[in-house]
Amino acid sequence: MTPELLDRDMARRARYSQGAGIMRIIPAAVARPRDIGMLRATIGDARNASLSITPRGAGTAMDGGNIGPGLVLDLSSFDSGGCDVDAIARRAIVSPSLTLAELRAAAAPHGLRLPPEPSSAAWATLGGMVSTNAAGAASLRHGSIRPWIEALTLETVDGPLHLARGESPPGTHPVVGRWAQQVVPVLEQHRDEIRRRYPAVRKNSAGYALDHWLAHRELIDVVIGSEGTLGVITRLTVRLDAQPAVRMSLRAVLDRRDHLEPAIEAIRPYDPETLEFLDESFLGVIRRTQQSVDTDAALLGAGSILLADFTGDDASEVSARMAAAAAATAPHARIDLALRPDEIERLWAVRHGASPALAALEDGRRSLQVVEDGCVPPGALQAYIEAVDAACRSAGVDVVIFGHAGDGHVHVNLLPRTGDPSWPDRIAAVYRRVSGDVIALGGTPSGEHGAGRLRAPLLGALYGEAVMQCHAAVKDAFDPIGLFNPGVIIGRADPLASLKLGPNAPAIPADADEWLADLERTADWGRCRW
Ligand SMILES: Cc1cc2nc3c(=O)[nH]c(=O)nc-3n(C[C@H](O)[C@H](O)[C@H](O)COP(=O)(O)OP(=O)(O)OC[C@H]3O[C@@H](n4cnc5c(N)ncnc54)[C@H](O)[C@@H]3O)c2cc1C
Repeated sequence: MTPELLDRDMARRARYSQGAGIMRIIPAAVARPRDIGMLRATIGDARNASLSITPRGAGTAMDGGNIGPGLVLDLSSFDSGGCDVDAIARRAIVSPSLTLAELRAAAAPHGLRLPPEPSSAAWATLGGMVSTNAAGAASLRHGSIRPWIEALTLETVDGPLHLARGESPPGTHPVVGRWAQQVVPVLEQHRDEIRRRYPAVRKNSAGYALDHWLAHRELIDVVIGSEGTLGVITRLTVRLDAQPAVRMSLRAVLDRRDHLEPAIEAIRPYDPETLEFLDESFLGVIRRTQQSVDTDAALLGAGSILLADFTGDDASEVSARMAAAAAATAPHARIDLALRPDEIERLWAVRHGASPALAALEDGRRSLQVVEDGCVPPGALQAYIEAVDAACRSAGVDVVIFGHAGDGHVHVNLLPRTGDPSWPDRIAAVYRRVSGDVIALGGTPSGEHGAGRLRAPLLGALYGEAVMQCHAAVKDAFDPIGLFNPGVIIGRADPLASLKLGPNAPAIPADADEWLADLERTADWGRCRW
């Protein structure tokens, strides 16, 4: 008989009822397995108790993929965050509970790094990053985490499955058998539709990566970005890259928003590693909340700003590239260049202050991630930003826009006044309209955060019925009993019926409510466990 590993204490369950997003679902139980034996026993206990399983790392995902009504499986202590760096081969074998910050610290002495760097690096686990196909500012040059994963082990309903790039998956594994018999024929049948319906964007974390499977025929690509719906990742092999020796930064201050696309197009040919954007809406919040993240007078009258990093190993080559980008951008913007680390820090302070400034708003408005992750094809960014603005104006909701301009990908935080009883209707109007707009512009509702529960109901409109049938076939092959994260990626439930605040928010003990509110204010996700 297995030990009782499922904790049903309400105080602890309440702490796992939210991630970093807008939803709240109280789980029936929580568990924190520390090794593979405990993990398997816990999965067995959940099956015996007829509970679904939601794997969870640090809980920083915003799309509701890390919360669920069954068992929340806290993997933040799994395998002691193990990390084994092979400097010669430039790779690391890691536990899924390792945070990106810990991997950075282990790789840095060897002059190595993992380039896709979410700004949640201090807390985000490798398991969570791989499961959401996470990305970040440097993804402009280095892509999302997908191509950096060489191998992984997934604990499935049929036991462990090891997948490695360039190797055939083990044919005797039941998942691999079902994949060959049930999924491959469906994917072949709908091949043209998949190619047509996957958006031509630089980043996409919405749904299973069927487009990548068609391109490379690697099963590992389907698991990357699968948001805990196919099993539990228990081990990862991560490719590492040499750290660049030189970093320099450029800031372009734009007076008018219609200079945005020309400025992006002027900078991009010079191969920046990052190209980030802070819209006038964001700078307005910074000014009003008097966040002293940057006292630079140039920003006071700015419409919006672009920040670009140029990196490499040869200082004169990097500096020449940045100077050429500056000259090309000068007709559209005022330019500042930073060569020294302290100057670079000063230019970037305003970008790094984005999330803390929004989380700490104390003027009756609440920063909510409702349509926070849209990504559109290059050239459509300005149209998308204008569509977001129009939707928010029409619904009477303030908005803040910032993010990864070089990838056509911006984060949109709504700032409803939650003292006004109509705020849930207002954000629902924005959700409907902006989700339609991003798809109409040829984009995806998620560039890097995932579909989760928040965007699962949008995938039908994004991909169409045939591609959603392919999604169902994938889920059935890996998880025929629907054990892992049902309702995530494939689901129709209205996410706005499960908001974490407002009249319909599920009741939790007052101290847990306060604990979660404090977590949101301080963004201290490292303590999001018991
Ligand atoms: C302030 C802030 C900034 C952020 N910036 C970025 C950014 O720049 N780029 C970006 O991409 N994201 C960003 N995010 C979102 C988030 O940090 C990432 O999605 C991150 O990768 C999630 O990691 P996690 O450990 O918190 O995973 P969780 O939130 O716990 O889980 C995320 C998903 O992964 C699944 N999962 C977790 N571990 C496993 C496992 N071992 N096996 C199977 N499934 C698993 C869960 O079921 C869930 O669906 C940000 C979030 C915050 C709060």
